[in-house]
Amino acid sequence: MKTTLKTDITVKDICEGFVYNELEGKGLFGLSGKLTIQPEYQRNYIYSDGKRDVAVIDSLLKGYPLGLIYFVKVNEDEFEILDGQQRITSFGRYVTNKFAIKDENGLEQYFSGIAVDKRNTILETKLTIYECEGEESEIKSWFKTINIVGIPLNDQEVNNAIFSGPFVTCAKEEFSNSQNSNIQKWSAYISGSANRQAFLKCALDWVSKGNVVDYMSSHRYDDNISELKTYFNSVIDWVSTVFIDVESEMCGLEWGRLYETYHKKAYDPKKVSKKVQDLLGDPYVKNHRGIFEYILGGSIDTKLLEIRVFDEATKKSIYKTQTEKAEKKKESNCPLCAIGHDSNANKIWKQSEMDADHVTAWSKGGATNIKNCQMLCKTHNRAKGNK
Ligand SMILES: [Zn+2]
Repeated sequence: MKTTLKTDITVKDICEGFVYNELEGKGLFGLSGKLTIQPEYQRNYIYSDGKRDVAVIDSLLKGYPLGLIYFVKVNEDEFEILDGQQRITSFGRYVTNKFAIKDENGLEQYFSGIAVDKRNTILETKLTIYECEGEESEIKSWFKTINIVGIPLNDQEVNNAIFSGPFVTCAKEEFSNSQNSNIQKWSAYISGSANRQAFLKCALDWVSKGNVVDYMSSHRYDDNISELKTYFNSVIDWVSTVFIDVESEMCGLEWGRLYETYHKKAYDPKKVSKKVQDLLGDPYVKNHRGIFEYILGGSIDTKLLEIRVFDEATKKSIYKTQTEKAEKKKESNCPLCAIGHDSNANKIWKQSEMDADHVTAWSKGGATNIKNCQMLCKTHNRAKGNK
C-alpha cells in the first residue's frame, strides 16, 4: 500500500460542498465533491451526542491536533475516508450550522454566530492527512485494524467493512437506518442501537444460526436481502404474536434460538399472557428473563426460573425439629429413609448431608417458607427433584 502525507488541506477545503444527510444521519461528501465521507464500509455517524462533536470543535478552537486522518485514493481526484469520518462530519456539521456549542459565557453559539477570528481559526486549521492507495482487500483489512479515535469498531462494524458490497448496502438500508419506523417495535426484543448495528447483527445471527461471517461472505454480492428480511420478520412476528404484552425482560433474549425451537408449537396468546403476568408477580421466581422460555417449553423446566431457595435459618430450624423427633422414635431424620427398609431407616444424617425440599412443589403452588420445608438426605432430595 502506498501512502502520501498531506499537510496543507484545511477544514475550509474539506467543508467545501459538505453535505450532511439529516435523514440518514451521515455526512456524505466534501472537498468540493472529491471526497466521499461515508463510504458503505464505514460506520454510521455516532459523534452527534453533544460531547464528542463538541470536543472536536473545542480542539480546533484551542489549536489541539485532531489526529491523523486517512483517505483512500479511489481514482484520480476521488477519495473516500478510511479513518476520520466522525471528526470530519463533526466539523462539517458545525461549520454548516447544524449544532451549537457553548462559549466562555455559557451561551449556545452556532458557527455563524461566533467571532470572525474564531471562525477563521477553525476554517484555517490544517489537517494531517495520509492518502493511501492499494488493493481494495488490502485497504479493508487495514481498516479493520485501526481504531477510530478511541471507539473501536464492534464486530458487526468490522464485518460490514470486510464484506462491503451490495448485500451490506441493502442490509444497512433496512437495519442500520435509525429512521426506519420499525425500530421501536424491534427495540422491544433487541437491545442496542441501529447506529451501532445491533439490529443488523441480530438479523444476521438469526438467519445464519450464529454463522454470521459465513453468511455475509456467501451473500456478499447478492443484490437483495429478501431471505435475511423474511427470516427476521418471521421471528419478530412470532414473538409478538405469542407474547401479546411487551415486557422489558424480553429485550435481548435469544429470540432466534427460541423461534427455531418452538415456532411449530401452538400457543394460546391469552393464556400465555396470563401465565407471564402470574410468574412476573410470583415472589419466588428470581429469574424473570427465564419466564418466556419456561412457558414456551410447556412450563416444565423450573430451573429457568431460579425459584428462590430456603434460607439458612429455616433449614437449621427444620433440621433441629425433624432430628429431635426422629431420635425419640429411633428412626432416620430423613422422612423418606425412615419409611424405607434398608440400613438407612434409622440413620441420623448431619445437616450438611441433607438438603431442603418443598413439601408441596413450587410448581403446584407450594410456597418457599418454613411451613412448606422439609429436610431430606441428599439422595432422596435428588430423586424427588428429578420427578
Ligand atoms: Zn433419605
